Parts: sequence; C-alpha cells; structure tokens
Amino acid sequence: MTSSAKENALVEALLACKLASLPLPADVKGTWLAEGVLQLIPAEPWQQATVISAGIHGNETAPIEMLLRILADISSGKQPLHQAILVVFGNLPSMRANKRYLHNDMNRLFGGRHAQAKPGNESRRAAQLEQVVADFFASTAPQSQSNRLHLDLHTAIRGSRFAQFSLIPFHRHAYHPSFFALQEACGLDAVVQHTAPGGTFSNFTSDAFGAQSCTLELGKALPFGQNDLTQFATTEAALRALIAGETLPTRDKAPVRYFSVAESIIKSDARFTLNLDPQAENFTELDVGYEIASQPGKHWTVSAKAPYILFPNAGVALGLRAGMLLQPASPCLSLPD
Ligand SMILES: [Zn+2]
Repeated sequence: MTSSAKENALVEALLACKLASLPLPADVKGTWLAEGVLQLIPAEPWQQATVISAGIHGNETAPIEMLLRILADISSGKQPLHQAILVVFGNLPSMRANKRYLHNDMNRLFGGRHAQAKPGNESRRAAQLEQVVADFFASTAPQSQSNRLHLDLHTAIRGSRFAQFSLIPFHRHAYHPSFFALQEACGLDAVVQHTAPGGTFSNFTSDAFGAQSCTLELGKALPFGQNDLTQFATTEAALRALIAGETLPTRDKAPVRYFSVAESIIKSDARFTLNLDPQAENFTELDVGYEIASQPGKHWTVSAKAPYILFPNAGVALGLRAGMLLQPASPCLSLPD
C-alpha cells in the first residue's frame, strides 16, 4: 500500500469511527474519552500533558491527516511517546460533510458560550470537548500542573503573506520561553497575540487550565487527499519531537515575526461594510488613513501603528469579529511598558 493510500485508509477508518480499535504498544495506555478523542499515557514517567486537536473546522483536513499519520506511527511503535497526550478530532460530522461546520462555528463556542448558542452539532460537541479536556488535565494533574500545552491545528480560508502562523489567546498567566521555542521549531512565520478573550478552543484551555495554548494556522484548507503534506513537514517534525520528549528541531527559516491585536472590527449593524478586496491576504499592510470598515456611527481607519489586517470577513454574524488590525510586537511578545 502506498503511503497516500494508507493515509486515505486511515481517514476513512476515522470517518467510519473504526479508530477505536487502534492497536497500541504495550508501554502506552490508550483510553477513548469520547468519539474521536483518544488519551495516550506512556507507562514510564513523563512531565508534560499536551492536547493536540485538529478538525475543529471539519474542512481543514491537512492537520487531520498529519495527526492520523502520527497516531498510526504511535500505534506501530515507530513514533516514540514519552509525554501524555490527548488527541482530539474536533468535528466528525462536519469532516464527513467536508464542511467548516454544520450549525455553528465551533471555534466561537468555547468557554461556556455553547450554552447560549442555538443547540446543534457544534454546541453539543464544544460542551463535550470542554469536559474531556477537563478530565484529561485532572487525571494528569500530579505531573503536569505547570506543564500543560494545547496546540489546536487549523488551516486558513484565505491566502496569507505569512503562510504559517499561530494565535496565542489573551492570558494572564506566564507563557514559558519553551513555548516560544516550540513556535520557532514549528517553522511558523508569524505569531499573533490576542489582547481580548474569545470563544476559541485554545482560549478555553489557556484560561480554564493555565495551559500554554495556541491556534496554529498551517496553510490553506483543501479537501482530504489533496494536501501537500510536505508543506507541513516542519510542524510535524516539531510535534513528533515534542511528544517523544526529544530536543526540538533547529529552525531553518527567517526569524518569527511577532504581532499583537491593536483593534478588533466588530460587526454590530446590518449595514456594516468592509472596504477590502475579498481576495486580500492575511497580514496585508494597508495604507495609513484608509477607511477599512464602517457602519452607522462607527468608522475604522488604518493607523500607522497597526496597519496589518488579519481574518477580514464581512460575512460574519452580527456581534462577531469581521477582522483585526495588528501592530508589530517584540520577540516572544514581551510586552512594552
Ligand atoms: Zn479553522
């Protein structure tokens, strides 16, 4: 069987919910905490508890395939596992439908927001994922209290000036230098610091469990089987080293660019307009003084301090974010006084 045929067989197995019968080596204890959620704990002592999630948006397939490959290698014994991990395949029904979501964008529903959403596939699943992550961190607490990680793997809808980047949720606890070393080793081009809380999965794990969390945007969303996984090889190598407890690979790229969110553009009126080419890439530098968006009573103008646009989307529901303006930040986000 070729490796791509093998991956497709794995994807099919996952989608048919047959992964629960995945064999594991004798020194790894596997427990399915929910459909598509596998806890793996090595028999020998370990220090770090890491949640690795993919498919919170069902059509973002490359990270799902990457995670399946790693899981297959753990199963065969080829991939060493020396840390506790929780592997989460986020939204199985939307993966089967090759859709971002069925009823609600799941990555806006965490931190209890699912209780306010119209009940549906994603509100149920977000509530369940909050519970299984709580169970995982509770059961691994003696070893991992100060060493919890969460990497939520995504691909973006639009093109990006920086092909691979991460978003670090707003947090009050310290993020360790080792976490930024991981960002570097993953080959990311940019790291963005949120400056306000949100309903993302990574915001939830950071806020509720003091984890070092981020959302990784690893490229453009394509259907299963059409991903060029070599694009993701650096991130995959870093993840494999992380869970093996090995030294992270050395970065072989220009330094990471750091940004923080200066302003969120919140759409709160049906007459909202976003004055931007729909094809505009993430991190496009806009002209100073340009009116990027408007709605009755509010105009957003680009300032010299924060000229970069991220995730522009005029189509969001009222009350949600239609884009963010970014400012450059110092390395590892040590905030200026
Ligand atoms: Zn996504």
